[in-house]
Amino acid sequence: MPAPITLLVDDSCPLVHVFRCHWEDVHQRRPLTKDGRPLIDRVPNPFLDRFCDVVERRGMAGKFSIVPAPGGLGDVVQGIAGDPEGTRAWLDTARRRLPPRFDFTPEGITHNLAVNLATGDYYPLGESDWSQTQTRETLTPYLIRQLELLRDAGIDATGVTSPWVFGIRVEPEYVAAIVAAQRQVYGRSFSWYFLHMLHDRPDARPWIALKEGETTLVAIPSTVDDFWWETIDSPRTDAAYVSAVTDRMLTADGRGGKIRAVLDAGGYPVLLTHWQSLISNGLGTGLAVLDELGRRIQETLVGEVEWVSCLELARRTAAG
Ligand SMILES: [Zn+2]
Repeated sequence: MPAPITLLVDDSCPLVHVFRCHWEDVHQRRPLTKDGRPLIDRVPNPFLDRFCDVVERRGMAGKFSIVPAPGGLGDVVQGIAGDPEGTRAWLDTARRRLPPRFDFTPEGITHNLAVNLATGDYYPLGESDWSQTQTRETLTPYLIRQLELLRDAGIDATGVTSPWVFGIRVEPEYVAAIVAAQRQVYGRSFSWYFLHMLHDRPDARPWIALKEGETTLVAIPSTVDDFWWETIDSPRTDAAYVSAVTDRMLTADGRGGKIRAVLDAGGYPVLLTHWQSLISNGLGTGLAVLDELGRRIQETLVGEVEWVSCLELARRTAAG
């Protein structure tokens, strides 16, 4: 049996470069790359088409986050960044081109400062920090808001992505909240979430986080770190650079790199990347790496891996 392989795309959303927003608002950093270039503040819609071209060409599958109210700059229902038409066009493309191979999930409400649901104001801390002292009583409405925004924008979210390490210190409360929110918003009793980054555990596989009667929640951990990230901070776009970054995940002969290490350890390659790691501050270098990685997988791992969506991976995990 080929091992399932899946791609987790975090921080994607219409128009806004979420990373730049929280770099400034949550981390209080200057909006610059490490080599001193200004961080872009928008991701143009054609980039989503280019991403869809690559994952279609390479037969990839996984999940694709949609941050519902990125950076507090509007939301997927009302329109983001003052551009309701652009927002709608982006969502239409995502819905038309990504399912069923890619699942959708929210990733926080803002992926930035936490929202006070009673007033609509922001707390002076990021969503992840806020979450760590909460209980299911406060986490459930927070997750319901995320899911409702996506549902009302016509998006079916089969799971939940945790911004940063949202809920990790109160995980049993968080798990209960995910289950309650999925039931209330989508009437769903089978779901999954991404929280754990187990990049030093190459043998890791997804597990059942909760099973109660008809209700099942599967935890899908990433096992392959975001090696695309360094492209944000490099001006290089040449083929040798693209090849070198790809090598860290899978060498051209399929015999080296982190994906090989995970397969050899008996784990499942669950690849983590971010929208900002693919757009690479406007250069698109990360997307070129994704294309090259997809090509290498197609050519060297035939019969060894099979691309699956996160929902399919969760189903296989639950089936044992
Ligand atoms: Zn994120």
